[in-house]
Amino acid sequence: MSHVKVNNFKACCDQFERAAEKLGLEKNLATSLMMPDRELAVEVPLNRDDGSLAVFKGYRIQHNNARGPFKGGIRYHQEVDLDEVRALAALMTYKTAVVDIPYGGGKGGITVDPRELSERELEQLSRRFFRRISPIIGVNKDIPAPDVNTNAQIMAWFMDEYSQNQGYSPGIVTGKPIDLGGSLGREAATGRGVFLTIREAASEFDVDLSKATAVIQGFGNVGSFAALFLQELGCKVVAVSDVTGGLHDPSGLDIPALIDHVREHRVIEGCGQGKNVSNEELLTLECDFMVPAALGGVIHKMNADSLNCRFVIEAANGPTTPPGDEILFDKSIPVIPDILTNAGGVTVSYFEWVQNLQQFRWEEEEVNTKLEAKMVKAYSEVSALRREKKVSFRTAAFMVAIDRVARSVELRGF
Ligand code: GLU
Repeated sequence: MSHVKVNNFKACCDQFERAAEKLGLEKNLATSLMMPDRELAVEVPLNRDDGSLAVFKGYRIQHNNARGPFKGGIRYHQEVDLDEVRALAALMTYKTAVVDIPYGGGKGGITVDPRELSERELEQLSRRFFRRISPIIGVNKDIPAPDVNTNAQIMAWFMDEYSQNQGYSPGIVTGKPIDLGGSLGREAATGRGVFLTIREAASEFDVDLSKATAVIQGFGNVGSFAALFLQELGCKVVAVSDVTGGLHDPSGLDIPALIDHVREHRVIEGCGQGKNVSNEELLTLECDFMVPAALGGVIHKMNADSLNCRFVIEAANGPTTPPGDEILFDKSIPVIPDILTNAGGVTVSYFEWVQNLQQFRWEEEEVNTKLEAKMVKAYSEVSALRREKKVSFRTAAFMVAIDRVARSVELRGF
């Protein structure tokens, strides 16, 4: 998938600074809110199946915990580096503040392409990584979760590592399997949150969802659930893509059939639907909602001008670079930012943690209703500030978040 590897943390700082300036935030406070509290880099050794030894780099960055324990996922990807994890950790601080859940922000990752690992290798790498970061992890300290290429099974291994020493501690990670204290509704939560964001935007901007079209770039957990919920409300999903390329059908793809195909074959390739398009072409397709739901940096200065949509809905973290953002702003295409759009995942992670602490399971309907209330409120607060201050959705979301984090820091004392 074509994307530019930008200096992610710098991009995040640019966004932060724009909002901090609008808020009139004191300079030293602004710097302290922007920089991570703690950065841990680890070496993770792995005995390969062929008998050789490999060593991978891993990270856990704790960005800010003024409002609650550090919280955020762990990503396995060959492009993971310190700078990217730092940016993603910062985004978590603002994301948890936008939806007003009592968490700070953190992120972790291993620089590895997990497709090259066997199941046994994946388990050993995951357990060893967790052991190496465990001195700074804790139920009230820092709570990991899934992110790109990590899943409920990996969370189960993390939980097992921790519980072997500490006793049964499901609250140490979220996004676990249901049998080990995972929450009903967690798997679909990020996609559901993306869908709720689109629904709220459609209602504010008078877009009839039953006549609207969406293009989804990335058909993993987030993209596939978002597509499913959109289609259920009558919105036509005219194109989707993954690492194997894209599919386009102006009369709308059959999303449940596509999900079944991906469950079996892991990729959308070969599903027999639509006409093939490249990931680059996909971004230029005409639609109401362009939903980048894969990796960061896919909309950038070289391609932003060719977008042909009414809204960009950032389901992935950091899909639009700052120069790309500016071009979209000039084209009057509203960009609903990641820290709002994809906050449904961490919101239900919070509900999962609460259930673990209560040792009580909620019904799925309760989870979904509470998620909806959080997303609707966050959207309306961000959009109200956007209208009042005449700023972009992104700046407004950062303003809401920074204001909340700053208040907690000031109340706790510098
Ligand atoms: N990785 C997800 C995110 O970026 C979820 C994090 C979590 O649930 O803690 O928001």
